[in-house]
Amino acid sequence: MSETLLSVEGLAATYNHAIAAVSDVSLAVRGGEIVAVLGANGAGKSTTLQAVSALLSARRGQITAGRIVFDGRDLAGTSAAALVRAGLVPVLEGRHCFASLTVEENLITGAMGRDARRVEIAADLDRVYQLFPRLKQHRRSLAGLTSGGEQQMTAIGRALMSRPRLLVLDEPSMGLAPLVVEAIFRALKQLNSEQGLSILVAEQNSTVALRFADHAVVLENGRSVLAGRAAELRQRADIKTHYLGGS
Ligand code: ATP
Repeated sequence: MSETLLSVEGLAATYNHAIAAVSDVSLAVRGGEIVAVLGANGAGKSTTLQAVSALLSARRGQITAGRIVFDGRDLAGTSAAALVRAGLVPVLEGRHCFASLTVEENLITGAMGRDARRVEIAADLDRVYQLFPRLKQHRRSLAGLTSGGEQQMTAIGRALMSRPRLLVLDEPSMGLAPLVVEAIFRALKQLNSEQGLSILVAEQNSTVALRFADHAVVLENGRSVLAGRAAELRQRADIKTHYLGGS
């Protein structure tokens, strides 16, 4: 069995020193694994992923307890940029493309932090275009004028350009048509099975997440209350009704 790449133990976090948005979350991602974080609206999925990516402070949030370890290194005090260089790369909610740059320019920004040579960037772009052929068609389009699905693909492609070891995705399915969601999860599965990329993905769409993930963790009111193999959790009818607000 692969080694643990990311572990979160007893995470608690607040915004503006108010009540805890997350009070006790634990999870682990082993190398080469896809782990889904499930939960209803407000359960704490985004907060957990922001904490893991060292981006909570941008939302005026702070970690108040717990420990996050990536690749054997305690992340306390580490910046988001340093994490990206270490291989932990977020694709957070809202896609965050640069609307006034082209799709290709957006992708290239993902390689800027790693001092890549031109030939390497060209090869990495080719790989992204193989994974998402629609991005190749739209490479010269302004990202802001492309569809929601293409913007999500651009955000994922940009993350891939920084050569992640762990991709951290927050609700990649949000607002997208089922066929587009399917295409995105298939691409993630392909990256995982062909390149061994580890993936931590928060989703309200538990049906699709449990189909593609190896393991899943369910959050309820800021706590991780259930964890297990996705194939087993898929069989449990009570998961959706009890924990996921029927989603
Ligand atoms: P959703 O799917 O709706 O994004 P979530 O499971 O990702 O839900 P979080 O966004 O992490 O949940 O929210 C957890 C709790 O923290 C909620 O009670 C939410 O209202 C609160 N919260 C989230 N962001 C902020 C913020 N920037 N300031 C204050 N409270 C926040």
